Amino acid sequence: MPERILVVEDEARIAQFLKRGLIYEGYHVDVASDGQSGLDMARDNVPDLVILDWMLPGMDGLEVCKRLRAAGNVPILMLTAKEEVQDRITGLDAGADDYLVKPFSFDELLARMRALFRRAAPSSQPEVLRFNDLLLDTGTHRAQRGDRFIDLTAKEYELLEMFMRNPRRVLTRELIFDRVWGYDFGGESNIIEVYVRYLRQKTEEDGEPRLIHTVRGVGYVLREE
Ligand code: CA
Repeated sequence: MPERILVVEDEARIAQFLKRGLIYEGYHVDVASDGQSGLDMARDNVPDLVILDWMLPGMDGLEVCKRLRAAGNVPILMLTAKEEVQDRITGLDAGADDYLVKPFSFDELLARMRALFRRAAPSSQPEVLRFNDLLLDTGTHRAQRGDRFIDLTAKEYELLEMFMRNPRRVLTRELIFDRVWGYDFGGESNIIEVYVRYLRQKTEEDGEPRLIHTVRGVGYVLREE
């Protein structure tokens, strides 16, 4: 079964370019030209990945992203003409898994898509990773702390899995970048901080003791308080 890609893009030229290229690569492609029809299509035929333009008429890509995220964990790759780090952070806050700044090369788009698929794919041998009262199921990609189940986005899962597989080991920012993002996201980006903050919010929701600690100037470590 080819993977189903939903492209939400109002610029017909770009939408057609993406559709043609992705079909040629063997994907099944749906195209929506505005946010609401994108959401409708995603509901009717659940995609394996969404390529979502930021600037859309009516409901913008950010709002579409939030609604998609509220409905499930589909990987979301946002397209944007905005290059400022702050805009990226805003999009990541809305639940996007990755970014591509226009204009982009089709090869780079394919590489990012493959990376997202790899991360979203359930591991062949599901297992439950455990650290203290925090559990992570590599089959369902869900975490659990105490009795509380925690839903994670694709990137949050991947980051937490990296911590859970390396307990008490200090992970440098460079290593995390390399493993979780797999490419240079851009010099001074604070994307890792942003995601660590998400994970802390989710894993410390009920005031539980912190597990992911900052090692100033170096990176992060999963350890007891
Ligand atoms: Ca647009």
